[in-house]
Amino acid sequence: MAGKIPREFIDELLDRTDIVDLIDARVGLKKAGKDYQACCPFHNEKSPSFTVSRDKQFYHCFGCGANGNAISFMMEYDKLEFVDAIEELASLLNLDVPREQGSGKPERTIEQNVQIMI
Ligand SMILES: [Zn+2]
Repeated sequence: MAGKIPREFIDELLDRTDIVDLIDARVGLKKAGKDYQACCPFHNEKSPSFTVSRDKQFYHCFGCGANGNAISFMMEYDKLEFVDAIEELASLLNLDVPREQGSGKPERTIEQNVQIMI
């Protein structure tokens, strides 16, 4: 199992991902003033109550209460695990996901060869 994804990388990913482009590619957003709207992908509705803010890099649905950032959108919409959502966003930006050393990896045991010197 690989190590933990560094927090700074997740921040950078969110920084470099535009949530409007990300959701627009999947749902198809319409500009509404400063924000973007669509019919919510997480519940059935006829009038759009799903709003995406480019300023806040956040989505919110007034109908079902779904909300979050680019990572939670990927998790909810593409049904991904947290780590897979990170990998997916990173691949869209052509980035490699770095892993922290140590945690997750089995500690290497120092094997001592006992040599019997005669
Ligand atoms: Zn909704």
